[in-house]
Amino acid sequence: MSKDLKDKTEGELEEMVIASGRKKYLAGSIFRFIHSKGVEDVSLLTSLDKSFRAELAAGGYFISRLGVSRRLADPDGTVKFTFTLDDGGVIESVVLVDGKRRTLCISTQVGCGMNCVFCATGRLKLQRNLTAAEIAGQVYAVENAGERITNVVYMGMGEPLANYDAVLKSVRILNAAAGRNVGIRHLTVSTCGIAPAIKKLAGEDIHPRLAISLNAPSDELRSELMPINRKYPLKVLLDAVEHYQYRAKERVTFEYVLINGLNDSAEQAGKLVKLVRRFRCNVNLIEFNPHDGCRFKGSGAEQIDRFAEVVRGAGIETTVRLKMGSSIFAACGQLGAKGPKR
Ligand code: SF4
Repeated sequence: MSKDLKDKTEGELEEMVIASGRKKYLAGSIFRFIHSKGVEDVSLLTSLDKSFRAELAAGGYFISRLGVSRRLADPDGTVKFTFTLDDGGVIESVVLVDGKRRTLCISTQVGCGMNCVFCATGRLKLQRNLTAAEIAGQVYAVENAGERITNVVYMGMGEPLANYDAVLKSVRILNAAAGRNVGIRHLTVSTCGIAPAIKKLAGEDIHPRLAISLNAPSDELRSELMPINRKYPLKVLLDAVEHYQYRAKERVTFEYVLINGLNDSAEQAGKLVKLVRRFRCNVNLIEFNPHDGCRFKGSGAEQIDRFAEVVRGAGIETTVRLKMGSSIFAACGQLGAKGPKR
């Protein structure tokens, strides 16, 4: 088990404290110092007596720290943070600004093993899973750099549900009242469609909002764009989503990246409507963001409007996400792509 105290839920800290022969309430104090006060050194856990702090340090316990290695701001308000991990791995998080809402898009893996053909992160392949401390730590580091965050989406580098345990633990940590206390409705986990993991999440005692990266209205096209669809085709995926919605009682978001001439016709919009109309949902349309080595092009404003009209016309709440952060390679599907040398 990890010796990183930041990587433990309150419950896990309680087990550790009790095993040391001390009172259980000390766990709450350790958790608060790390996740609310931002303490990153065992010696600074001043609510513990010196002997306990010395014992923890001697036992190899530590508090990990995530340092920002680069910060790039786009004129549209988007800010991308790059972090270099202890083992040299690189991850990125992006602040997206929409009025008062300031959403941090965080990473869950170094690289990604899902191989979606339109995605720059997928080309990096999976290097490793992040720990819960590294996932939640992105929120703390970005806030420490002066950004105010109201919402967190697990939509950066990596497939969150392929790193299920750490992602769920980080949701618990970020949501904990004694910690950062992000409301559960302000935490969204996005997935490319690992159906069994969606069902598993439905069975948990905590339900973040769910977003599905859909991107195609037929199995044939989706399997071409997202290999995961060959394993869990649309029917299997959408049945799992229905189960999640039944348990979580929350609206689901369907993300749809529009690629010129591939998935952006009015007819395909009609097919998308048929797939999602049974859900209490919103559809998020995102223009594809080009990156080196990828043959696709974005759909353009007119085509996106035509597509959105069809979906909206069917009574489904539809948002069009403007291209944000593309000049700093912070746009959707661009994380990990070679950015500007600045
Ligand atoms: S779109 Fe998401 S799941 Fe697919 S390769 Fe990119 S990061 Fe991975």
